[in-house]
Amino acid sequence: MEKLLSVEEALEKILAKFTEKTSKSIIIDKALDHILAKDILTKVELPPFDNSSMDGFAVLASDVENSSEEKPVELEVIEDIAAGYFPKKQIKKGQTSRIMTGAPLPPGADSVIPVEFTNYSDRYAQQLLMENILVYKPVKPGDYVRPKGQDIQKGEKIFSKGHKLRAQDLGFLAAQGIERVSVVKKPVIALLSSGDELIKPGDKLIPGKIYDSNTITIKSLLNSFGAEILDLGVAKDNFEDIETKLERTLQTDVDLIISTAGVSVGVYDFIRDVIQQDGHLNFWKVNIRPGKPLSFGEYKGTPTIGLPGNPVSAFIGFTVFVLPVIYHLKGLQNLDRHAGTAILENDVTSDGRESYLRGKVYFKDTNNYARLTRHQGSGNLLSLADSNALLIIPSGVKSLPTGSEVVFWPLT
Ligand code: AMP
Ligand code: MG
Repeated sequence: MEKLLSVEEALEKILAKFTEKTSKSIIIDKALDHILAKDILTKVELPPFDNSSMDGFAVLASDVENSSEEKPVELEVIEDIAAGYFPKKQIKKGQTSRIMTGAPLPPGADSVIPVEFTNYSDRYAQQLLMENILVYKPVKPGDYVRPKGQDIQKGEKIFSKGHKLRAQDLGFLAAQGIERVSVVKKPVIALLSSGDELIKPGDKLIPGKIYDSNTITIKSLLNSFGAEILDLGVAKDNFEDIETKLERTLQTDVDLIISTAGVSVGVYDFIRDVIQQDGHLNFWKVNIRPGKPLSFGEYKGTPTIGLPGNPVSAFIGFTVFVLPVIYHLKGLQNLDRHAGTAILENDVTSDGRESYLRGKVYFKDTNNYARLTRHQGSGNLLSLADSNALLIIPSGVKSLPTGSEVVFWPLT
């Protein structure tokens, strides 16, 4: 039997050809899902000033310490402080200023009485400047005040390099007054599908043809893992068309070219020939099932992965070999393919290649259980559509009986 390159060796050879992408500065409006290229430190302390956490009245706690329903304390209102404005008047003994949530605490005051604890609870919005209010409850110094710097100090590290920016993270950056961030440039990946038999979904199915499913699957994977796509379309099974379509990659900065199909030993499989003539072929078979005919090389200097044509093989080839490249280009730690283990509910056979079977994993009581989804032919995309995990049978193992432990890789 021929000695095939192991999945590990193949991956090592592939990753050796890539280095982390450089960074660029972008505006936060466009930064969702981008990966930070540098740590981010806070620029301003938050809150930036002592402010009220309630609609109420700014007071000196010592003025109201003996207040009660029976013996309310009377205070003179000297100013109205709205959020967004800075108070002009100092609170002295016997005085108060009406203050809105988020407005700065006036000098002299040390606490806030919520409006509910006063005789203005149901008419807070009334004109009452220079009038007196009655306070029914005491407060302690600091009550209902959000002190300056309580949430965050200046110079604190909030996000590390490699962090993927989410909506709330961008909100926090905005709250810091940070307008631009340095992010890792997105990998640019060209995709070429191939095959004379392929027609587009929506077109009329005619004898001998099938609908192209790889293009949308791979494009969707590229999108969801944050790569930019250069769509090279579908090439006919001839040398010239493949070459012409690949030439488009010369006009852009492409990190990786992916092709699907035409990479095996069929009479009309020309992808390898083109790569060999216009570049260099590193390998074209891997000890993986499904998806043994998987090529790696370069086309005019650009690394090129030839995925098999069978839809399940193309998906698995992408997951096992292309995803790690995307992570690597983004400077992220590689995916762990051995995320969990489950107890098999089927007998499983293989041919000794490292196998990625389609399965459904579910949790019951204290264990994960896994069963195969449908028939496991490499063309049966429904087995993948039905699955939520790939079950990994190690190289050299030809059968696993029901009840054995199997490693699985969850699919999102
Ligand atoms: P090949 O690698 O060209 O021998 O193709 C292997 C199998 O995958 C054949 O049955 C092809 O018809 C099928 N195939 C190739 N490309 C696609 C595609 N884009 N969508 C669906 N099936 C495909
Ligand atoms: Mg073909």
